[in-house]
Amino acid sequence: MRLLLLAGTMEARQIAAAFSSDNRIKVIASLAGATRTPRALGVPTRIGGFGGREAFAAYLERERIGAVLDATHPFAAAMSHRSADVCHEMQVPYMQFLRPAWMPGRGDHWTFLNSEEDAARHIPEGARVFVATGRQTLERYGNMHGRTLIVRLIDSVPGHFPLPEGYFLPGTPPFTVEEEVALFRRQEIDWLVTKNAGGNASRAKLDAARHLGLPVAMIRRPLQPEGPKLETISAALSWVRRLL
Ligand code: NAP
Repeated sequence: MRLLLLAGTMEARQIAAAFSSDNRIKVIASLAGATRTPRALGVPTRIGGFGGREAFAAYLERERIGAVLDATHPFAAAMSHRSADVCHEMQVPYMQFLRPAWMPGRGDHWTFLNSEEDAARHIPEGARVFVATGRQTLERYGNMHGRTLIVRLIDSVPGHFPLPEGYFLPGTPPFTVEEEVALFRRQEIDWLVTKNAGGNASRAKLDAARHLGLPVAMIRRPLQPEGPKLETISAALSWVRRLL
């Protein structure tokens, strides 16, 4: 069976690894191309957008894709909606792997936001803000006058900071809680802004914020496609194997 694995997350990497030695399933992983030098997934991988809805449908047909496992990031909602719709129309089995959202616990001070633009309503002027939502969404903080934005960049050359107040910091994940605590102290961070990505790979910053008693502005997830979802790697692997 030819499985298209929509990737871009740590879990997609784990799913690819699990299938790399299974001769019954030919996995083709797909990356959007957002990371300049992605680590190899251990299965044949195509990189870059498909070129829109029609092109995605044509790709599924041309490559004789038997099922699509969508393990994209919870905020890659456009891709998930489009893939779910096209697969439904073409009667190609589709499943979304979606890690559970983070929930606040004891000692957390979270404010939920509907979008990046909301941050300015809650974070006071003068604050030093660690913005963990990446370079792509930075222009959405254009209303954060009077706050200093500190943005960590994973694999790109920092370049010019596009907003009046703030700067880029280089950093290569994974980060431990101790490292995040030290960074927040060193940078004198007052607030953390993050997307509700869920999962363990990037939660150290939340544990660090709890440890330091820092307030967190948590951006809610976008609406996901309707239909069943799987929350664990083993459930995702079983779903694929049941299709054989
Ligand atoms: P998006 O807004 O949902 O999708 C935008 C376009 O990117 C899609 O229409 C598609 O282009 C292309 N695309 C997205 N995922 C793709 C994939 N796995 N393979 C091939 N093309 C893909 O997605 P996004 O938020 O820009 O995220 C892009 C990628 O980065 C995703 O794979 C996601 O897993 C990863 N990622 C996203 C975030 C985040 O916060 N959004 C965080 C970490 C990782 P075409 O229409 O041309 O096919």
